[in-house]
Amino acid sequence: MSRTLAPGTRVACPRCGRPCIVRRGPRDDERPLSHSNTRKGWCANCAITRWIKETPPLSDLLASDGRWGIEGGPEALFHADIQEAVASVMRAGNCPVDPAEIDWPAVVANWEKETS
Ligand SMILES: [Zn+2]
Repeated sequence: MSRTLAPGTRVACPRCGRPCIVRRGPRDDERPLSHSNTRKGWCANCAITRWIKETPPLSDLLASDGRWGIEGGPEALFHADIQEAVASVMRAGNCPVDPAEIDWPAVVANWEKETS
């Protein structure tokens, strides 16, 4: 288990290097993202990337062949309907991150980085 960090500590996201500020530990009722208070926590962009990659039907949609009117691949994340679908899940899940904080160009730019 990774050592906990005090709120306000500045850390770099271990996946993309984006600066983050530790706020508090996770709560069980937060979905699909929750806060982290360890060095293993990712920035919101990387955390939402992992969730999208691991969660059908979004994961299937991004790998699709355009049959739903959206070309597959991470660029589909620029589609307003997909961004709104992700935002809806975040709002419904008591997510502590404002969906407007997701930097979609950064999500797409870092898409191929490991998420496991
Ligand atoms: Zn990151």
